[in-house]
Amino acid sequence: MELDKLQKELESTPERQKLRKLRKVLMEQTEKIDSYKTGVKEKEAELAAGTQKLEALLKEYDLEQDDLNIMLEDEECTAAEITESRKSMEKLLERVNSLKKSLSETQEWIKKTTEAIKETYQKGAKTKRDYEAAKTVVETERMERKPVIDKAERDVERIGAQLSPELLKRYKTIKKKYPNPVARVTDNRCSGCGMSLPMNTIKKFASGNGIIECENCARILCRDE
Ligand SMILES: [Zn+2]
Repeated sequence: MELDKLQKELESTPERQKLRKLRKVLMEQTEKIDSYKTGVKEKEAELAAGTQKLEALLKEYDLEQDDLNIMLEDEECTAAEITESRKSMEKLLERVNSLKKSLSETQEWIKKTTEAIKETYQKGAKTKRDYEAAKTVVETERMERKPVIDKAERDVERIGAQLSPELLKRYKTIKKKYPNPVARVTDNRCSGCGMSLPMNTIKKFASGNGIIECENCARILCRDE
């Protein structure tokens, strides 16, 4: 438990927390850039398709214009036919204008998003620098505490070696579930889970023979001394 405490302390220093936060920010920035880039690609494809469409519309408009010019010089052409042709050209022009507007909006979006990508890259570079700096501090912290943690690890091994393999195995199994696998018996209760121990268990425990576990939480029981 002492080793757990030391490791936990090392894992939760302000600098470690800062490092974790910076890592998260870095990942978010990368994701943002990726999503921006995907968006730009899509919009560029839209822009290319739209530009082609615009060219086609303009060509169509020119042809209509030519037609109209011919009609205007053709004496056999009726006023109704000319009006029809003008109407058709107006409609075409509306489509051209609306497409132009949409293309210019797309261009604007691409421009803005490209700027946002640049900005995010700059922010990302700063985050990366902060991250590297925090990493260095964290590494220093780790090196500083290494001797203490190494000693605690040796203690764990030394104490473990004094126990019977069976007890050690049980201890490790319970430890996977609870950080404190050993519980004191206080007022005939398990201090780990707080449950009253059955008479039978108390008797066995009082006899001092063997390893007694709490029937509720399975922690190894020890004397309250
Ligand atoms: Zn218990």
